[in-house]
Formats: sequence, structure tokens, C-alpha cells
Amino acid sequence: MIVSRLLAFAATPVLAALLAGASQGGGAVPGAPTAGDPYFPQSGDGGYHVVHYRLNLGYTPASRHLDATAVLTSTATQNLSSFYLDLSGLTVGSVRIDGRAVAFSRSGVKLKVTPAHALRRGRTFSTTITYSGVPADVTDPDGSADGWITQKDGSVFVAGEPQGAMTWFPSNSHPIDKSTYEVEVTVPDGWTAVSNGRLASRRSSNGRTAFDWRETSPMAAYLATAGIGKFQVQSYRTASGLPVYNAVDPAEAKAAAPVLAQLPAVIAWESKIFGRYPFDAAGAVVEHAHSVGYALETQTRPVYDRAPDIDTLVHETAHQWFGDSVSLNRWKDIWLNEGFATYAEWLWDAHHGGPSTAKRFATDYALPAGNDLWSFPAGDPGDGAHIFGTPPYERGAMVLEKLRERVGDQAFFAILRSWAGEHRYGHGDTAQFIALSEKISGKKLDSLFATWLYGKGKPATP
Ligand SMILES: [Zn+2]
Repeated sequence: MIVSRLLAFAATPVLAALLAGASQGGGAVPGAPTAGDPYFPQSGDGGYHVVHYRLNLGYTPASRHLDATAVLTSTATQNLSSFYLDLSGLTVGSVRIDGRAVAFSRSGVKLKVTPAHALRRGRTFSTTITYSGVPADVTDPDGSADGWITQKDGSVFVAGEPQGAMTWFPSNSHPIDKSTYEVEVTVPDGWTAVSNGRLASRRSSNGRTAFDWRETSPMAAYLATAGIGKFQVQSYRTASGLPVYNAVDPAEAKAAAPVLAQLPAVIAWESKIFGRYPFDAAGAVVEHAHSVGYALETQTRPVYDRAPDIDTLVHETAHQWFGDSVSLNRWKDIWLNEGFATYAEWLWDAHHGGPSTAKRFATDYALPAGNDLWSFPAGDPGDGAHIFGTPPYERGAMVLEKLRERVGDQAFFAILRSWAGEHRYGHGDTAQFIALSEKISGKKLDSLFATWLYGKGKPATP
């Protein structure tokens, strides 16, 4: 296990910004070694935007060894004398910019790249990194494992929220930076590698098979996956023509089958509520990896550490709209992902004979003031260790129920659809969500959000 270390950099985001300001007039300065998110200060990098990742990964389950090349097509957003990428562990063999070998150095989880000549703002350039080694997951502030997680038999579970992308490819690893992806994984014959989007090709030679995946919608690095196992594969199109690709560990197949069979119905139902499904592919990777302890809404194709139940399937599918298509600017706003996905579960259950969403709210509200639910405000977890605590999920859903109660069903569901539609493939923050809610409903909602989203402790009245 590698614990990510906070690095002491000479250039803090603030200092870097000052330097950038001071150098206006043509000077080039280093890109910041951070996206500036206080919850995960070592995540992401400044000065450039990755437009596209092309990853070629060769993986051998017996040795757990990865041999890889990453080609990043990026655009400089400032005049750059050098820039950083996020990469944890592994050995970097070479770095090239537009085909020419350049200097690089490593410190903690940062790979610093220094081009031969400064890159001018607005320039598009290609960075090719060769790297290899045995990937190791990272441990998040809440103690959970994140990233490339190898199982005893050499199979691999890949879930990168919030900071695990750096365990298997060099990236600008903060959701503020979204990119398209091609991920080609080569594994021994008999093994299957599953990434995001559509399978463009599958070729076998010399005892190894290459699976070439394409994700053509912008994606945050943490939502990229590369599940590897001896999967049972199911591939078909839904009634509306959406290609579905499910890969399931045989040990989970029996339990997973009836739930995965409902995926087309879940997508169709959520599309009616949230607006059109944002992506051109769907599916699931179901692994036998119970020690991981969570599922993740990896874009188009969530990964599950075991056969999911229907609520989990509904939850991860709802994230395709809320979290994947509409991304966070900062991790503090995690309730925009988790509260919405939890509310989707409430809606599904209510629609299928379970308690109404109002009843769910009342049941939660009845929990005593000392319950975890009230331990911190859903809209202000405080730090990276708390983003996956109870409040962003359950209190986040309660916020939406209060909003629905206040503005009425028609305005409420119009707000959800507009949120997904107006920010599709981009980003959204809480202030924008509140502004949209007020605009659509025509109501002042600041005290509602002050109490239910940002209020400390249990509100005095439901
Ligand atoms: Zn979730």
C-alpha cells in the first residue's frame, strides 16, 4: 500500500498564479503542481488541459506487471516552461513531447516534465510517456483503497475516486479536467480487459489479446477503468439501440444476472426523469473483489466489487447523469453526485412499491441528533476524509426532498432535467444549482439550502 504524501512545493497555487501574473508579456512559468482543490491538494495540475488520452497497457496477471505507453494530447492554458502530471509508483522510462525526448523528474506523486522550449499558451502538444512496474493502489484519507487494486488471482479492479487514476496512468487527475479516452489493454488469451465506452476492436496474436476501448464523451480521470479478469461477457443492444457490454466474474454471475437484466429498464426509467442518457454505451464490470468494499460509477460502465443489488445498480446508473456527465469543480460539492444518486434510489423504490420519498425523509429525520447523519453538513464535509460519509448521500437526498416539497413536482423535476441538460459533459457547482432552482421555481430558496445543505446538526423542525 502506498500512502499518498503531501508534497512541499516551492510553487503553491497562489504563488504560481502570482508568478503567472507577473510574467504576462511572454514569459513562461511552470504549471502549478495542483488543481488547487483543498480537499486533495496533490490532485491535478495547472497550466494545461488534456484533450485526449491514448493508453496502451500490457498486463500480465501472473507477475502483476504493467508495461505501458500513454499519449496525452494537451493544450497549454498558459505559457509553460514545465508542467506536472500525477503518477504514483511505477517507473518512467521516457517522456517525449511531439516526438522529442525531454527532461523529467519525479517527486512523490508528481511527474515533472520540462520541454526543450517553452510551450506557448493555446498550443496543442503531444506528451508520450513510457512506464512500467507493478501498480499499487493508494489509500484515501478515509482509509479505503483506491486505484488499481490487484486481486489474489491477478485480476484487477480499477476504481479511481477520488485520486486513484495516478496509480495506473499519468494524468491531470482532478475532475475539473475532462478528456476523451482510448484505452487498449493487452492480456493473455482467456483474460478479458474492460474499459469505458465502446469496444472498437479485439485482436489476438502470440497468445495475447488486445481490447481497444473508446470513450468519446469527456471524462474525468477518476472515472476511467480497466477491469481485468476471466469474465463472462454479455453484449447486446437495448430496444433503443444503446450497446450494453457486461463483464462478470463467474463467482458472481448467478447473483448478478437478474439485477443486470434490469439495466435497460433502469436506464429507460432514469432517462424519463433526468433527460436523455448522456453516453453512447452502457454496461457493468462485476468482479469478485469483496475486500474492496464499494462500487464506482466509472463512466458508461460502473464497476462493482460483487453482484450489485438493484439499489446499487440504480445509484451507479444515476451517476451517469450526476457526477459523470455533470462533473464537480471541487470535491467539496460531492453531494451533487451522491445526494442525487441516493435520491434516484428513493425514487426507484417509491415507484416499485416501497416507501414514498416523503416517508424516507421522515424516517431519516427521526434519527437522533447524535446520529452520523447529522455529523456534518452535506454541503460542507470539511476535508477529503469525509466526502464519502453519510451526510453527502443521505442528507443530500433529504435536501432534494425538501426542495421538491417546496417547489412542487413539476418545477422539481424540471430542475433535475435542466441541471443534467445545461451542464451536460461539463461541470456544475452548488451555487449554480441553487440559482437554477430559484430561476425555475421562481422562489427564494436561500434559507432552505442554508438549513438543509449547510446547517450544522439536526434542523429543529422537519
Ligand atoms: Zn455514489
